[in-house]
Amino acid sequence: MNKMTIRVPFVDLKLQHEPIQMQLQDAIQSVLERGDFILGQALSDFEAAFAAVSGAEYGVGVASGTDAIALGLQACNIGAGDEVILPANTFIATLIGVLRAGAKPILVDCDHQTALIDLREAAKAITPYTKAIIPVHLYGQMVSPSELFNFADTYKLLIFEDAAQAHLAQRDGYHAGSVGIAAAFSFYPSKNLGAFGDGGMVLTRDSDVALKMRRLRNYGASQKYFHTEAGTNSRLDTLQAAILHQKLPYLPQWNRDRLTIAQQYDAQLAPLATAGIIPMENQSGTGHVYHLYVIKVDDSCPIKRQQLEEKLTAVGIQTGIHYPIPCHLQPAFTNLGYQPGDFPQAEKLSKQILSLPMYPGLSSSQIKEVVAAIAHAVSTSYKADNLSPADLSTVVA
Ligand SMILES: *Cc1c(COP(=O)(O)O)cnc(C)c1O
Repeated sequence: MNKMTIRVPFVDLKLQHEPIQMQLQDAIQSVLERGDFILGQALSDFEAAFAAVSGAEYGVGVASGTDAIALGLQACNIGAGDEVILPANTFIATLIGVLRAGAKPILVDCDHQTALIDLREAAKAITPYTKAIIPVHLYGQMVSPSELFNFADTYKLLIFEDAAQAHLAQRDGYHAGSVGIAAAFSFYPSKNLGAFGDGGMVLTRDSDVALKMRRLRNYGASQKYFHTEAGTNSRLDTLQAAILHQKLPYLPQWNRDRLTIAQQYDAQLAPLATAGIIPMENQSGTGHVYHLYVIKVDDSCPIKRQQLEEKLTAVGIQTGIHYPIPCHLQPAFTNLGYQPGDFPQAEKLSKQILSLPMYPGLSSSQIKEVVAAIAHAVSTSYKADNLSPADLSTVVA
């Protein structure tokens, strides 16, 4: 394929940083001046601020979202001998976090409409060893807190949220990060709140969990050179915290922008539903923070997901797939003993989903362009269907 100008990128972080560049530079400068690069003032300030806006009590910044899951589970005393339920269709870091905590991951299927964990399937996976469930607030939509509370009550489980895609998301009156005993966030640059590098945080309302987290991220030290557990070195840089704290006040507006963009996509894509282009269902209304805007290319659609992806790329529209291979089918984890067919919804979705461009600053005309390109690709496929395979190339070209 020849080199193509990108008309609609998948994400554009420059758009978000340019207007506040001076502020960001000042924040960086003040860390340089103080020189407290590790566990500095800007870190504790940001931890408190992010916990407060998320309805949690304590925040503990770590080096990544993956570490937030692994260390967060450990801080909740979830580990060897415990089973932890999580969805099969999540980013691999959820699974890796459980394994690093020493617990046994139990994967379950998802709901085909929302791609969120299916709690009826989770109920079937309960054993005497089940200690916790990790609801992944996938794509920016929270797993229903009221349903989670019922579930956790019934089976006497801990809830540990993977909120890496759900900064400030809301549902049933709860913020992501305030539902479980603890929650993991990621500040990977393209997340709804992103650093200038890697970063993560655990939020909790439990002071014991917070204290243990502070030890675990700092070599397991309860005070300097006195180690009560085998911790690690995983601290959110003071510099990253200062940057994130500057960006935090803009997050609600950025999330509203994402919602508005999603509403435009929803409205404009609606006529394509009969052709089999189906957006993921929003069941949480304005609390959805749309880290990603994901459509399904249904099996009834005249075009296959891969063809649609290629046709969009060919006209300069970038897309993504989150995620193309469910966790249980990843080569690294065959030892978990799962088989193709174990999680039919997750497997089906992995072949149907396509993430469209989504970022604050994406313009209405770009949205129209994306939808028009999808509509065009679908309609030309209808026509192509009536042609012999030999003629097809001329139509697609
Ligand atoms: C990004 C992400 C993570 C991992 O975060 P990192 O900061 O990249 O380690 C975990 N879970 C989900 C659902 C994510 O999207």
